[in-house]
Amino acid sequence: MKVVAVVGGVGGARFLLGVKHLLGLPAVGEPPEPSAHEITAIVNTADDMWLHGLRVCPDLDSCMYTLGGGIDTERGWGRAAETWTVGAELAAYGTEGTWFNLGDRDIATHLVRTRMMRAGYDLSDITAALCQRWKPGVRLLPMTDDRVETHVVIDEPETGERKAVHFQEWWVRYRAEPHAESIVPVGADEATAGPGVVEAIAEADIVLIAPSNPVVSIGSVLAVPGVRSALRKTEAPVIGLSPIVRDKAVRGMAEACLTAIGVPTTAEAVGRHYGSRACSDQGILDGWLVHSGDAADVPNVAVRAVPLMMSDVDATAAMARAAFDLGGVDIG
Ligand code: GDP
Ligand code: CA
Repeated sequence: MKVVAVVGGVGGARFLLGVKHLLGLPAVGEPPEPSAHEITAIVNTADDMWLHGLRVCPDLDSCMYTLGGGIDTERGWGRAAETWTVGAELAAYGTEGTWFNLGDRDIATHLVRTRMMRAGYDLSDITAALCQRWKPGVRLLPMTDDRVETHVVIDEPETGERKAVHFQEWWVRYRAEPHAESIVPVGADEATAGPGVVEAIAEADIVLIAPSNPVVSIGSVLAVPGVRSALRKTEAPVIGLSPIVRDKAVRGMAEACLTAIGVPTTAEAVGRHYGSRACSDQGILDGWLVHSGDAADVPNVAVRAVPLMMSDVDATAAMARAAFDLGGVDIG
């Protein structure tokens, strides 16, 4: 069975743990023997940035650390048993950008990635190389090897000056508090889907749209030319899971992103925003899972309500099972 999931960072990574568990694979790490199942994650890279001369890829790393057993499970991001000496030293120099915490262990990942990048390797090759250490048991494909970075137009809190800042600056430094006038994945129009991305969607038995941020995670992947049309063309069912439960993002501040693109924070509105493959010329969904008790009317999309809280790996696997059921795909 070939399973493709479109994912962001923390939400996407947790969801992938459940998909692995459902397919009988160890949630963390690689199966001891080759498996009949192959999971490919198409990962958002529009949160990536240059910081202190290092290329940082938060969503790829969240997936890699989570699935490879290196994540700090309390925080949900970054390395377990992390220390913060380098960050404190950078702050002591008054360096720009220390609002983004980079732990010492994590910095080693960015050093390896940056060195390979400067030697001319593509992000997809670098990711594969980093995964040789982490063995996530899922093929992690960057959505593109090209540079795409989400920018957010805000009125800067200190000066009131209108300007575009990197998504991470808005999200982490300003906690998404300044109103976002617009959110743009800069560079997406000229980007090409990463190696294997379109092929994986075409060859899939099922495609899952993870309960990730609909704007800055899933939306960025969909903005890469070729991805949306691959999703619209594949013979596999495409099933989405709502990150919005009872009109709120389960974790984080996705409301601010949805507001910026004029989509209400409801499971129904996000389902309609993704749209039906059958009746709109942009739509990607055949099925849409919402949380028990939430209702959604999404024209020409099969909607089902099931528990959608990823409280543990069993609950997450049950969500993935509901997606397979809705898509009519038998796990065997
Ligand atoms: P990020 O890149 O680290 O922000 O992570 P993602 O974009 O992959 O996921 C963030 C989204 O996951 C948020 O919009 C949350 O609402 C959603 N999310 C987190 N935990 C859960 C959960 O337990 N259930 C559901 N349905 N959504 C969740
Ligand atoms: Ca992210």
